[in-house]
Amino acid sequence: MIITLKKNTPKEEVDKLASQFESQGLRINLSPGENYVVFGLIGDTSRLDDRTIAANKWIENVQRIAAPYKLANRMFHPEDSVIDVAGIKVGGNEKIVIIGGPCSVEGDEPLCNIAKEVKDAGAKMLRGGAYKPRTSPYAFQGMGYEGIKCLNHARDLTGLPVVSELMSADKLDEFVENVDLIQIGARNMQNFDLLKAVGKINKPVLLKRGLSATIEEWIMSAEYIMANGNPNVILCERGIRTFEKYTRNTLDLSVVPIIKEKTHLPIIIDPSHATGDWKLVESMSLAAVAAGADGLIIEVHDHPECALSDGAQSLKPEKFKTLVDKARKVALAIGREI
Ligand code: PEP
Ligand code: MN
Repeated sequence: MIITLKKNTPKEEVDKLASQFESQGLRINLSPGENYVVFGLIGDTSRLDDRTIAANKWIENVQRIAAPYKLANRMFHPEDSVIDVAGIKVGGNEKIVIIGGPCSVEGDEPLCNIAKEVKDAGAKMLRGGAYKPRTSPYAFQGMGYEGIKCLNHARDLTGLPVVSELMSADKLDEFVENVDLIQIGARNMQNFDLLKAVGKINKPVLLKRGLSATIEEWIMSAEYIMANGNPNVILCERGIRTFEKYTRNTLDLSVVPIIKEKTHLPIIIDPSHATGDWKLVESMSLAAVAAGADGLIIEVHDHPECALSDGAQSLKPEKFKTLVDKARKVALAIGREI
């Protein structure tokens, strides 16, 4: 971190600041210039808050050199993390993982049918929400524990590991027991108590990007989980809110190379929530694979027109299969496999 002090800062103020940083375990490289005194802080500055430091009236400017995240930072962990989800590896040079399934679990038979269909099409995991974060309190809220039992049954039938969203730490034990990849939804990306709770287990966590989160805020949420002891984090871009109305959200595909440069964590794309429109899901999926994503999570429903949530963005199983077949060719073109 580089701190520039104002012209004419009294010497006692410079000394006071120096001892303040030294007492925090940092070393100081002091360069007194003609107009400014510049402090280079050497050491772990991740606990410092630049805006609080800048509140000192003698400070002209504070500039962070190192990112505020450490555990997620590729600088301190150059090799890709590969996350093992019940035997399915995500990240690194492993195969690109396709996850398919309904937005919400709607019943045992419908879920088991979709599970078989997505498996036949090439999916390696099954998704399905049992506890749903809905904008309206009158909308379908999910089947709750009954839905979790359906996921267990579908896993028994197909062998596919299951992904489901955890909305409250109250249900943590239920999820640890029954869910292979615990999803933290976009709306909970900064629910810090929930992040701390999933940080205390070692089940893999799928951390979705918040609706209006910057990439750094998203990585800091991953850092929360990791700092509490769970290194098994997979990031998921699901579109961000912009002024655009032709899509539900705007898919920010640039995050794929950025996340890979800044962190060592796997990144997967959710083209369903990112577009809100089944007609756009295939092209965005192919683009995501071409961009280097480690996986795709896609909503699939046998009768999207009757779905209890997110029917407009759900693919029928045959369309999902066509998508996976095309994605396989794109993967080969960039030296990966599905
Ligand atoms: C979902 O996966 O169904 C979901 C609600 O996702 P998001 O948190 O990305 O909106
Ligand atoms: Mn959904």
